[in-house]
Amino acid sequence: MGLTSQVFSEDNLRPLVGYMAIGHVRYSTSGSSHIRNAQPYLIETLHGPLAVAHNGNLTNALSLRHRLLERGVGLSSSSDSEVITQMLAAPPPGGEPDGPDWEARIAEFMAVAEGAYSLVVLTRDAVFAVRDPWGLRPLCIGELNASSCGYVVASESCALATIGARYIREVAPGEIVRLQCPGLRSTQGRPPAQQVALCVFEYVYFSRPDSLLEGQTVHRVRQRLGEELAHELPAEADVVVGVPDSAIPAAIGYARASGIPFTEGMTKNRYIGRTFIQPDERLRRAGVHLKYNPLVANLAGQRVVLIDDSIVRGTTAGPLIRLLREAGAAEVHVRVSSPPVRHPCFMGLDMATHAELIAHRKSVAEICAYIGADSLAYLSHEGMMRAVLAGVESGPASSMPTAGEVASAGSAPAPVGAAATSAAPTGAGSRHCSACFTGTYPIPLQEFWELKTQEKLALEQVWGS
Ligand code: SF4
Repeated sequence: MGLTSQVFSEDNLRPLVGYMAIGHVRYSTSGSSHIRNAQPYLIETLHGPLAVAHNGNLTNALSLRHRLLERGVGLSSSSDSEVITQMLAAPPPGGEPDGPDWEARIAEFMAVAEGAYSLVVLTRDAVFAVRDPWGLRPLCIGELNASSCGYVVASESCALATIGARYIREVAPGEIVRLQCPGLRSTQGRPPAQQVALCVFEYVYFSRPDSLLEGQTVHRVRQRLGEELAHELPAEADVVVGVPDSAIPAAIGYARASGIPFTEGMTKNRYIGRTFIQPDERLRRAGVHLKYNPLVANLAGQRVVLIDDSIVRGTTAGPLIRLLREAGAAEVHVRVSSPPVRHPCFMGLDMATHAELIAHRKSVAEICAYIGADSLAYLSHEGMMRAVLAGVESGPASSMPTAGEVASAGSAPAPVGAAATSAAPTGAGSRHCSACFTGTYPIPLQEFWELKTQEKLALEQVWGS
């Protein structure tokens, strides 16, 4: 348990020898923050070790878990990711006369799984990258050293640059990519959903600004969000300030479009983690003061436009505004570069139940009063989608395998569990999930509505593990 930099050291990494590996940094959504829910899951199967790391959240995990338990499969955690691992451990109903067919197993899982899953799967002789048919969470492939089959997979493309890898492409919705030597082997585990639905919140807040999604950098999209915000919601002010870091590109965009100068308003302590991710309310509140120091010289006597990327629980904005006022800001006008978050996410973001979302409980005027701003306004859904769609690569170019990849792997295997298709979903109007803003979910959520339970801890509550 702990931050990656605290848990891993050169000493404990050096003994790990081999030529394939997977790893995982947990952001708890389904299942609590507990060591037993840490990933990757590693189990021994008839055909050697099997390890799975999962980003996302299955929306039918309870029924899948029930099926496993009925089959007599024991489970040791409350995580949907363990359910995935155990499902992959079983051979498909027809058996496997020629040894394990991992692509077939993954396709069997995909045929019944609902929700968000970007996976890396490690077997004795290959790594697989898998993305759900909605493409809810990002997943991309890079090349480290082509001549020695140096392939890497990561949720965010910024991770590739860190190790000097070259970005190749995204894993397409519903695709299984086997990383092997030589080349990559692509199969369609399940056809892409009619309406693919990359999480728009990845653009708004979650992804790093230097990551590439759908052929555009997140940073550029955030600047456009700020520009849209300035056009829709001008403010009489002297300076534009962006807090948190994820809001700075939007603040720059707002400043550019409005003509109000951008200034740094806060110095951040970079050694304190993102407050949104801290699962405890008390820590979240203390976190704002630990993290930020106002730059008095830039704020005193100024009318400030404070750009935030989103207001989820409303616990951060109030303390930030107080800090600005203590530093002498004459007025604080909050402009949010996304619409109000009124609905929970069941697809991999930890935000959470209706009750926790301040915009579900309060009107915009009430939120404005609660956080102590002089004015508060949110970008419209239309404005947000304009900013996102303006740079989306249309067509399959960024997602689907190139002819070269398939050719380098020899003949592509017959697709498993679905008809072969090379047609990535196109049509820029229908390719994102924005359910936390609109309440219109891209996938059925029967289990959650029926259970009426705390979504994040559903497995623990229902199964008492
Ligand atoms: S509900 Fe919101 S956070 Fe969740 S996947 Fe959809 S856009 Fe992303």
